[in-house]
Amino acid sequence: MKIIILLGAPGAGKGTAAEGIKAATPYMHVSTGDMLRTAVKAGTPIGREAEGYMKRGELVPDGVMVRLVEEKFDGGPADKAYMLDGFPRTVEQAEMLDASLARRNSRLAHVFYLEAPRDLLVARLAGRRICRACGANYHIVNIPPKKQDVCDTCGGELYQRADDKEATINTRLEVFANQTKALIDYYTRQGVLARIDAAAPRERIIGQIVDKLRMAAGQ
Ligand code: AMP
Repeated sequence: MKIIILLGAPGAGKGTAAEGIKAATPYMHVSTGDMLRTAVKAGTPIGREAEGYMKRGELVPDGVMVRLVEEKFDGGPADKAYMLDGFPRTVEQAEMLDASLARRNSRLAHVFYLEAPRDLLVARLAGRRICRACGANYHIVNIPPKKQDVCDTCGGELYQRADDKEATINTRLEVFANQTKALIDYYTRQGVLARIDAAAPRERIIGQIVDKLRMAAGQ
């Protein structure tokens, strides 16, 4: 199993980068936020447990998250390549991920930290729209669809996530600063962190990550 991580505050562009990386590499996109939203919609036990935290913009407890990710790893073939988006978000989750990888004789290859200033994060979150059908990401100013509220790729309806409203955005950015930022030190110490300027154009961000992955794979 091969793992890379996309780390960054909400709005840094992890999901958008993941779409481009997925198209150019064997890495499968695993977004814990997407998995949780699906679980909430389906009313599964994990979904019922997670719903309140998500609505408030708080973190879902580590135990629930680790269960969710372990199930994903267990369900796929052993040689699979995963790109984690939104996980880990706490040092506890990162330690549990390390232990889980060690049990599978795997190691973390790269962590890409998408860095962006706060005002850019807020502007991206507030303008973000998502396709209900295929999950594609848009932005009302930066990546507008050809037709308003309609997905270019599949024709699905675009919507705004409930937690992309202003009050919840502030909580989520605070949670990132208080809990997730510690991971930057954690992965710097492991020597796997690469910093990416998330204010750069989408193509440059994706290009930098894809080049690094290809170089590491000897391509
Ligand atoms: P995201 O789509 O990554 O912004 O995640 C949306 C929400 O899902 C977050 O605000 C959290 O409530 C929850 N969530 C997603 N991933 C995690 C995680 N690794 N740990 C805790 N909560 C998470």
